[in-house]
Amino acid sequence: MSDGSADLVISLRDVHKAYGSGAGLTPVLRGVSLDLEKGEIVALVGQSGSGKSTLLNICGGLDTADKGSVKVLGLDYGKASDRELAELRNGKIGFVFQAFNLLDHLTCLGNVMLPSSFSPRRGKAERKNVEERATEALRRVGLADLANRHPMELSGGQKQRVAIARALYHRPVLLLCDEPTGNLDTETGREVIELFSDINQKDGVTMLIVTHEQRVSSAAGRVVRIEDGSIIEGDAVLHGSGVMPKVKADAEVAS
Ligand code: ADP
Ligand code: MG
Repeated sequence: MSDGSADLVISLRDVHKAYGSGAGLTPVLRGVSLDLEKGEIVALVGQSGSGKSTLLNICGGLDTADKGSVKVLGLDYGKASDRELAELRNGKIGFVFQAFNLLDHLTCLGNVMLPSSFSPRRGKAERKNVEERATEALRRVGLADLANRHPMELSGGQKQRVAIARALYHRPVLLLCDEPTGNLDTETGREVIELFSDINQKDGVTMLIVTHEQRVSSAAGRVVRIEDGSIIEGDAVLHGSGVMPKVKADAEVAS
């Protein structure tokens, strides 16, 4: 297609979102437009409370826009049925959050197999298939050896890897990550970012990563910033130089 829109994984146009009503109305997004092409890693930065999670949740169909157009992998959220949205969310999009959200009573393998429970349960062969797929996902994040451990027995970095394996279970085209290194120390966070880069490069998974951290921003091909409810593209400044402008560094410290 001449306009290249066939390659867009995310396409947002003039998206508005406010919370509350009347005198308590809080506008969060005030006309956000953003495109992510297939294979991109985009870092989404901005101060605390600027609407990063709101934007990510809208992209993932976990929250709805008040106004504007949201298209993800060709599906127009404004026109899609609940079923189409659920299929997209459960099949083509993986989510990774700051809190790892693992279930303590399940093993690593059990946690990674969880997404399969959203599909109807079938016979023994299917169960084996589910296990193989989950094992493969654990292998992908370097944790096949820990399949039978419980989350309590893992480090923070290992827990986040399990959460990433769970997000990869359905072999998603798009990963939406909300401060995925927020609970990790510097070195562990770096390893997780390297894992995201590797998954992006080898498996071609497109990623939108909310972060406060320069480390993620420098692994990204493009950095976009939310400020006053709008998106400011930062790649012209950031890309290539690897140097964050001073104003950004200050904002990141403050947030
Ligand atoms: P960020 O992720 O950038 O820290 P959020 O998207 O979580 O910001 O929140 C943006 C603003 O919207 C904040 O002022 C927050 O308090 C408000 N907000 C977020 N979610 C809700 C909600 N479900 N109900 C009411 N206000 C909300
Ligand atoms: Mg947030």
